[in-house]
Amino acid sequence: MNNHSSDTDGRGMPAIGVLDLQGGISEHIDHLERLGIRSVRVKEEEDFQNLAGLIVPGGESSCISRLLRLFNLDEIIVQQFQKGMKIWGTCAGAILLAKTVINESAHLGLIDIEIERNSFGSQLDSFQYEAVIPGLLKKPASLTFIRAPKIIKVGRDVNVLLQIDDYIAAAESSDVLVTVFHPELTGCLAFHHYFAKKCNLKPRDVDGTEVLDPTWRLTSWTRLARISRG
Ligand code: GLN
Repeated sequence: MNNHSSDTDGRGMPAIGVLDLQGGISEHIDHLERLGIRSVRVKEEEDFQNLAGLIVPGGESSCISRLLRLFNLDEIIVQQFQKGMKIWGTCAGAILLAKTVINESAHLGLIDIEIERNSFGSQLDSFQYEAVIPGLLKKPASLTFIRAPKIIKVGRDVNVLLQIDDYIAAAESSDVLVTVFHPELTGCLAFHHYFAKKCNLKPRDVDGTEVLDPTWRLTSWTRLARISRG
């Protein structure tokens, strides 16, 4: 049985998938729903049907990478990407998408960035940071970094969206977005809005200047959590 999350009506509509192997999946689905975007939990090949984009969530990149290979989803993701599916990686997701991972071999290698895992230290060195991002976040929003990597440098076809001190926290190519922080863990919908537009979808226009959802709570995602598929 399929484990589609918000696709009971409008199955033919293009959707954004969230890779559902390990990590923060329901939080992304919650944000996509708030923007009126159809979302799909992606666990196997059939889940890629009609996906305009895929979110590779945060979690543990070594674990997600192992599961990707075990279920042959790495090859399918690359194939779908070559056919035009856009991809956004948050934190561990950004590590999985990078062409170069310092001291490790690369995983999917779909964006020309060099990234360093656990670059701020341990889980205890997690933090919040207020930023604006021209063209994406017009008012300061609080960004959540959890045992985050640092993007050290980017290739010629990659634009830096957010540089902080000596590292890059968000970047994009024409088809891939990477953020080393977690917009799905705050009420900020700006990044999901931005990614939906990158996927040529039409997200609900939340406000235009500050895409914050006042009804969002830290526990909002719990209504969507699902541990196993039927
Ligand atoms: N430290 C994790 C890793 O290296 C990433 C953490 C996260 O996704 N919040 O995979």
